[in-house]
Amino acid sequence: MAWSEHQRSMLAAMGLRVWSMPTASEPDGAVAAVLDEATPPAPATRSPAQAAAPAPVVSRRPMSAAPPQAAPVAAAGAVNAVGLDWPALREAVASCTACALSSTRTQTVFGTGHPKAHWMIVGEAPGEAEDLSGEPFVGRSGQLLDNMLRAIGLSRHGGDMPDPARQVFIANTLKCRPPRNRNPLPDELARCEGFLIRQIELVRPKIILAMGSFAVQSLLRSSAPVGQLRGRAHSYQGVPLIVTYHPAYLLRQQSEKARAWDDLCLALDTVEAASTTVARD
Ligand code: SF4
Repeated sequence: MAWSEHQRSMLAAMGLRVWSMPTASEPDGAVAAVLDEATPPAPATRSPAQAAAPAPVVSRRPMSAAPPQAAPVAAAGAVNAVGLDWPALREAVASCTACALSSTRTQTVFGTGHPKAHWMIVGEAPGEAEDLSGEPFVGRSGQLLDNMLRAIGLSRHGGDMPDPARQVFIANTLKCRPPRNRNPLPDELARCEGFLIRQIELVRPKIILAMGSFAVQSLLRSSAPVGQLRGRAHSYQGVPLIVTYHPAYLLRQQSEKARAWDDLCLALDTVEAASTTVARD
């Protein structure tokens, strides 16, 4: 497929190196791209004309109309965070001993970002670097995530007068690191879920990006692989939800980075379409 100048500049901003390989079926050149987490990209901007340009997604399915939904019900045994405000929620997480991970963590990893961000990113569980720093998505996968966000004009770092529409709030499904980075256990996910539910209620995002299979399990109650669920918009309590790969996985599977870019473009289109609908109503 041929890529427009705008698409190429967005990909370059994201740290995607793009090149073309002519093939028999695609004489214009099939695009291969590699995301480079080590290259800090320049922030991408979208003029109205650029925003109207088609995003480089091969196939997408729009979100079907989401019916109003009742408040989420936490799994049996989940911590009770109902009604907590931000300070109380932060304190409840910091002092939580609801599962065995409390005895092996260095500290809890609450989450970070604008408290009213339009974008919410839900990851899996803290790794070693997160456990030590108390911040989600640090190290190489955090660098990659920041580059991905900057490529579509988003940031987790606020500033003096941050526009919530360009801000993200990042949280994990688990707030404590599993020892030796093993997978979270179902019981741990179930117990910690109340905190994530309350974070989403407080932020009230316009869109959620679920990164990785454990985030998907918690939010969509689905054990289907990420590869089967990505490429279309789902709904969490009426909020559009896009499934995509976890940055740590993308560091291991270079070939999936172009699909992650597709997912970001789908999220951007979905949130813009939703805001257009609201403006019209
Ligand atoms: S992982 Fe969640 S439920 Fe378990 S101790 Fe940490 S904060 Fe509490």
